[in-house]
Amino acid sequence: MSTAGQVIRCKAAVAWESGKPLSIEEVEVAPPQKNEVRIKIPFTSLCHTDVYFWDAKGQNPMFPRILGHEAGGIVESVGEGVTDLEPGDHVLPIFTGECKECAHCLSEGSNMCDLLRINTDRGGMIHDGKSRFSINGKPIYHFLGTSTFSEYTVVHVGQVAKINPEAPLDKVCVLSCGMSTGFGATVNVAKPKKGQSVAIFGLGAVGLAAAEGARVSGASRIIGVDLNPSRFEQAKKFGVTEFVNPKDHDKPVQEVIVEMTGGGVDRSVECTGSIQAMISAFECVHDGWGVAVLVGVPNKDDAFKTHPVNLLNERTLKGTFFGNYKPRTDIPAVVEKYMNQELELDKFITHSVPFSEINKAFELMLAGEGLRCVIRMDA
Ligand code: NAD
Ligand code: ZN
Repeated sequence: MSTAGQVIRCKAAVAWESGKPLSIEEVEVAPPQKNEVRIKIPFTSLCHTDVYFWDAKGQNPMFPRILGHEAGGIVESVGEGVTDLEPGDHVLPIFTGECKECAHCLSEGSNMCDLLRINTDRGGMIHDGKSRFSINGKPIYHFLGTSTFSEYTVVHVGQVAKINPEAPLDKVCVLSCGMSTGFGATVNVAKPKKGQSVAIFGLGAVGLAAAEGARVSGASRIIGVDLNPSRFEQAKKFGVTEFVNPKDHDKPVQEVIVEMTGGGVDRSVECTGSIQAMISAFECVHDGWGVAVLVGVPNKDDAFKTHPVNLLNERTLKGTFFGNYKPRTDIPAVVEKYMNQELELDKFITHSVPFSEINKAFELMLAGEGLRCVIRMDA
């Protein structure tokens, strides 16, 4: 490889200030250091978490930064100590990692790796705390250890899932965050039994992936909750059977759902990021056995408030990152599910733009239009 060991100059979309359009700049990408991989990114897509940290209203601002964490890529070169990846491998970079050595990685149930769990406030690499991106020598911060809004990025090897090279990267890129997160939140965490009812709060891509998990699990009723009525038509294609818009009722939505279901849903999955929806999602599950799962990313000052009796009455509240999948161990098999047509992804990809129009993807998400917008880096 002619570029291995050298600085690569390429295009990246830099967020200079909160809420201002990204600007495409020429950046320098340093070679990967110990336990790092440099990846060429042909396709990336936009998730709401990128928008939260770009907008930075309820999060710690950190600029200039290269956002992006949902992507498919090809390994360009590897740093010292990397033995299980080589140039040319097809990979998904993942915002939460798996070192394969810590107590969490060795446990069966947890994907909260001690070394590489999601850290939204880290702007450099774990090895030396420094950034691998710069413009005229001035560092640009990383985001979630992935920074995929760049033609090349550097990622810790523990945050890289090696996948089937036949898998189309412009499709499976959405498994790098949103679709795996929503689908896994239902099948791995909420675990509805066949015939049970499931409420999904938030019918964006993550919520509809959670609905897909409910459908595959044989749920009898899938109740979709969203403030945006235009979400409902689309959600019908994802097996959502009933719709509730909290704005249409003069009582809290949890009370509406408890009435609709004669005591509450068996499972709920919250995919909004709204603290109010998180509380409603918990309070709408049936006492005695109901399980609520939180997925949305809250504002930094949010606090969850409910009466303790809601828990004493044998309801369970859980939360999950990345659908409880261990990224390196589990994601290659999820990609295979797509290859075997057990899991549909194409219907989640409603838009596609060339890299030069990346700000359009932000506009679509802010307007609540579509689900996933894939950004084509070489166009
Ligand atoms: P999205 O913007 O496409 O969808 C969110 C939907 O929630 C929208 O349709 C919106 O109208 C709806 N909504 C907002 N407030 C609501 C409320 N109070 N009640 C009902 N509906 C409401 O976003 P997305 O990309 O699908 O992501 C969904 C959430 O999941 C975000 O908070 C994102 O940050 C989070 N997320 C978490 C993880 C994780 O691992 N836990 C991973 C990816 C994304
Ligand atoms: Zn670990």
